[in-house]
Amino acid sequence: MMEASFIPVCEPKFEGNEKKYLAECIDSGWVSSEGPFVGKLEAQFAEDCNRSYCCAVSSGTAALDVAIAALGLGPGDEVILPTFTIISCAQAIVRVGATPVLVDMNADTLTMNVDQIEQSITAKTRAIMVVHVFGLPADMHPIKELAQKYNLKIIEDAAEMHGQTYEGKPCGGFGDISIFSLYANKFVTSGEGGLVLTDDEHLYHRVRSLRNLCFSQKKRFVHEELGWNYRMTNLQAAVGLAQLEVLQSTVEKKRHIAAQYDDLLTDVDGLILPVKRCSYAESIYWVYGLVLDEAIDFDADEMIRRLTHRKIGARPYFWPMHEQPVFRNMGLFLDSTHPVSERLARRGFYIPNGLAITGEQIERVAETVRECIKL
Ligand SMILES: *Cc1c(COP(=O)(O)O)cnc(C)c1O
Repeated sequence: MMEASFIPVCEPKFEGNEKKYLAECIDSGWVSSEGPFVGKLEAQFAEDCNRSYCCAVSSGTAALDVAIAALGLGPGDEVILPTFTIISCAQAIVRVGATPVLVDMNADTLTMNVDQIEQSITAKTRAIMVVHVFGLPADMHPIKELAQKYNLKIIEDAAEMHGQTYEGKPCGGFGDISIFSLYANKFVTSGEGGLVLTDDEHLYHRVRSLRNLCFSQKKRFVHEELGWNYRMTNLQAAVGLAQLEVLQSTVEKKRHIAAQYDDLLTDVDGLILPVKRCSYAESIYWVYGLVLDEAIDFDADEMIRRLTHRKIGARPYFWPMHEQPVFRNMGLFLDSTHPVSERLARRGFYIPNGLAITGEQIERVAETVRECIKL
């Protein structure tokens, strides 16, 4: 019998114009950020998200850095964000000297707890960083109302939400400033990359300047401020544009993969399956995430070990920001407890759902999950 091969947690697939556009870059000699695909990618993203402006950067992390800096946040300012997210979100706030204030998630939908957002608002709060996690967007309507009532900016992290909508309107359209990541495991990838979107012309010019070392308009190589080289290359934008062209089919495929897993795993005792829809959106399953319920006497790390041993790729959920040594060593979050996120971090894991996965592989993954949970 042939030995079964390893099934990676996220294998991307490139079936559109990626090669063609890349060849255009090489043939024309335009490889840097000055090339035409960067502008095309920016224009298409802006149009798809109904935004006035879009600026491409080198990663989602860079996009968050630029967004926080463009808003002029700094020491004395508080920014509310979920604890259950990637470190890029919190570090962008900490790097400028502002204070991150954490809220927990709703246990079922993994969306931000809106009541806790309101309870966390103080006289120092300047912004809410909304992060849409895994498959469903945060409940934007009440969050927008809070922002209006308390005069707060919204930074929307839509890194995992390409093609997702909230009440029918595209994610990436809800922040004073919104960002996407184009990392390899995102729904639109350029290998590495990010985007910043806004309707505010002033913010847009700030973002463009910060992305490119804050070169002065008046005299080149004279700087009145520090920025970054966070530019995206034409090569990256070429791949990103080709990916964006097929986004709708990517979303459909992800939902199809999830539906197959739902069918195969629904009767497995001890497993909590991801929520398929809530009142305002249907999950797009950036990851297909599973949570071990209290009946299971081992944690997600052990489950991942068992799966990996049987050649199934699996990953843990985010580790909460309030439990990060780097922040605790700075004296941050020392008294924080966020039980939902703490439990998700210990009991949650996700299984392969890359676009390259086959129906047979999905069946093998589901069978192996079933086997591992009973061991
Ligand atoms: C991936 C991701 C980022 C960071 O994007 P990179 O391109 O990897 O730097 C930021 N926020 C969220 C929610 C993400 O999932």
